Amino acid sequence: MVSSLIKNYLRTDYLPHIWCSGCGNGILVRNLAQALDNLKLDMDKVVVVSGIGCSSRAAGYMNCNTLHTTHGRAIAFATGVKLANPELTVIVVTGDGDCAAIGGNHLIHAARRNIDLTVLVMNNNIYGMTGGQSSPTTPVGDSASTVPYGNIERPFDIATLALGCGASYVAKGDTYHVQKTTELIQGGIVHKGFALIDCASVCHVYYGRKNGKGDAVDMLKWQKENAVIKDGFDGEPNSAIPRDKLVIGLISKSDAPEFVEEYLKLVDKQSGKGDA
Ligand code: SF4
Repeated sequence: MVSSLIKNYLRTDYLPHIWCSGCGNGILVRNLAQALDNLKLDMDKVVVVSGIGCSSRAAGYMNCNTLHTTHGRAIAFATGVKLANPELTVIVVTGDGDCAAIGGNHLIHAARRNIDLTVLVMNNNIYGMTGGQSSPTTPVGDSASTVPYGNIERPFDIATLALGCGASYVAKGDTYHVQKTTELIQGGIVHKGFALIDCASVCHVYYGRKNGKGDAVDMLKWQKENAVIKDGFDGEPNSAIPRDKLVIGLISKSDAPEFVEEYLKLVDKQSGKGDA
C-alpha cells in the first residue's frame, strides 16, 4: 500500500527527500497521500500550496498541481488559486512558524472568510529549516537557538486560534496516530469551508535535541503515551490544557457561508444574473 501511495502521489524523481531521518513531516505527507487516495480525487484538480520551511518542502514532492511560495504567504496564494478556479481542491501544507508567525495575518483572515481551503499544519514547535529558532508554538520554558535560557513567550494554540477566527472545521492530529490523523485530514478536504488540521509533528534534530526529548522514536512514543483522543471543544483556554497531554481529534465542524460561493453570488447579482 505504501509503495502504491509513493508511486501514485509523490514525484518519485524528486526522491530521496531532504528531511532528516525520523522527521514527522514524512509521516504527515503519507497521511495526506492516504487521504487523497481514500477520496479518489482527480489529482489534476488538486493543488498543494506551501510557503517556506521544512514542512513546506512537501509541496515539491506531491504529484499534483503545486505551488512552493514565499515565507508565510501560502494561504494568500491558495486564496488566489481558489478564487480563480473554485472547482479545484486547494490544500495548504505549512509549519507553525510559516502559518502562525509571518503568515499569521493570512491565517486569521482566511479563517474569518471561511474560504474553502484545507490547511495542514506540521507543528513541530520550532523553526527547523532555518536553525532551530523559537516559533509561536514553542512551549514556555523550552529552549531554542533564539531562546537559549528558555522561552518566556506563551505559545499559540493554532487550532483554538483558527476556531476563534471563524474556521468551520478545526481538528488536531499527530504523527503517531496515523489512522485518526488521516481521517481528520480527509474530513477537512471534503468539508466546504476553511478547514485546519493542526498536527503535532516531530523535529528531533532541533526541538527534541535542545529539549531533552530523545530521538525521533522517543518523541513518537511520547505522542503514543500522552495523546488523548477527544472529539469536541470544551472551551478550555490554551493555558488550561495540561502540558503533559496532547489532545487530538475533531474540535469543531460547523456550517457557515463559504467565501467563494458568497463572492460568486455577489458577482451574479451585480451582473443581473442572480436574484434581484
Ligand atoms: Fe524535520 Fe527538524 Fe530535520 Fe526539519 S530540521 S527535516 S523539521 S527533523
